[in-house]
Amino acid sequence: MAESKKNDIVHSPLVTYASMISLLTLCPPFVILLWYTMTVADGSVLNVFYYFRNNGYQAFVDLWPKPTLLACEIIAVYGVFEAVLQLLLPGKTVYGPISPTGNRPVYKANGVAAYLVTLVTYVALWWFGIFNPTIVYDHLGEIYSTLIFGSLIFCIFLYIKGHLAPSSSDSGSSGNIIIDFYWGMELYPRIGKYFDIKVFTNCRFGMMSWAVLALTYCIKQYEENGKVADSMLVNTTLMLVYVTKFFWWEAGYWNTMDIAHDRAGFYICWGCLVWVPSVYTSPGMYLVNHPVNLGTQLALFILVSGILCIYINYDCDRQRQEFRRTNGKGLVWGRAPSKIEASYTTTSGETKKSLLLTSGWWGLARHFHYVPEILAAFFWTVPALFSHFLPYFYVVFLTILLFDRAKRDDDRCRSKYGKYWKLYCDRVPYRIIPGIY
Ligand code: NDP
Repeated sequence: MAESKKNDIVHSPLVTYASMISLLTLCPPFVILLWYTMTVADGSVLNVFYYFRNNGYQAFVDLWPKPTLLACEIIAVYGVFEAVLQLLLPGKTVYGPISPTGNRPVYKANGVAAYLVTLVTYVALWWFGIFNPTIVYDHLGEIYSTLIFGSLIFCIFLYIKGHLAPSSSDSGSSGNIIIDFYWGMELYPRIGKYFDIKVFTNCRFGMMSWAVLALTYCIKQYEENGKVADSMLVNTTLMLVYVTKFFWWEAGYWNTMDIAHDRAGFYICWGCLVWVPSVYTSPGMYLVNHPVNLGTQLALFILVSGILCIYINYDCDRQRQEFRRTNGKGLVWGRAPSKIEASYTTTSGETKKSLLLTSGWWGLARHFHYVPEILAAFFWTVPALFSHFLPYFYVVFLTILLFDRAKRDDDRCRSKYGKYWKLYCDRVPYRIIPGIY
């Protein structure tokens, strides 16, 4: 078991230590600083710099909101609501990919229903005066602060569970406590037979919070100004289209690296519980107090371009999954697909077959789907125009994340498929951007 775990690790221990220490020490203060800059300091990094220069280290301690009971209540009600929807809403049974030790996770595909129930409930609570989403915006700092500490405790729970009560044989230790905590131990941790922890952290808490916060920002601007600027409308619409696409395709997401390869540890779970609600939503957070007016033509141009990118990104994922589902028999861009019939050996020594698509989007570059993903993020940020850099942080971060991910995925596929992957690289030589990289 330990051996299979070691084979999963694609970064050296040194890189793991460096990234873990930086994530642990830099990301929490960054989340707080980002929130502070966007909501209090006019989105200006310079304003914050001058504030620190004049007030010293104590200024940072002072601006860090302490976790509060209200923040705990908001997070707990939201988390329990999502967990109940995940468990109780009906959905088709779907199967994940076969794991390295031969397990096949079973899921209930009720993401779209959970998404609709969440958004309708949230808007109805506001509409009927039961709960005002502006409370969330007004206490955002405390909410992030509570999430930062709460998620750390949750990751310790995952580590202990991985050691004491793993849910399946897809679990193991690398023999190094830091790597185990950081990259995680279990691939498919569950509470009981049905409650899948990664579906909860990644999809129902993390991705769902993205849509909920996008709406929150929009409602806050409306309550503050009595209207919503076209920049905010474009930003919120694009983010909602993106998250809607995500839940529409959620069962497909259960076949991706996040779920099928990355174990439940600090890297993925803390990221989904804290980083997604804070950093991913940050362009909208900025727009609340910066109601830029784009004019109808520009607003429509950005909106349509963003939707097109989200569609292309969706179509890339769909094409790969349809190709695998039909065993390479379906048409790709109206033609029979060109493909490589690869084989690989599982950790238990079994030889298995797999298909690699080398035409359609997957013939342009090996990770072409990251291009529209990054461009979509650019289009929902650009309504903020160019007065400040910080709203673009997510686009920059995403670009670095996806370039690193493409390398991690290539390394993993090379060790999985050997000569077949080399053949794929010969046929499709570019990693992300056709003709360039
Ligand atoms: P995927 O897991 O969907 O795709 C990579 C996997 O697909 C490989 O590990 C390999 O798995 C298989 N594969 C690779 N090449 C081929 C091929 N030519 N034909 C068939 N199968 C192939 O990638 P991601 O998880 O990175 O991305 C999924 C989606 O999530 C994308 O839309 C991406 O943009 C988005 N995303 C968004 C992020 C964000 O933070 N906003 C972060 C990461 C992803 P196998 O072992 O099965 O062969």
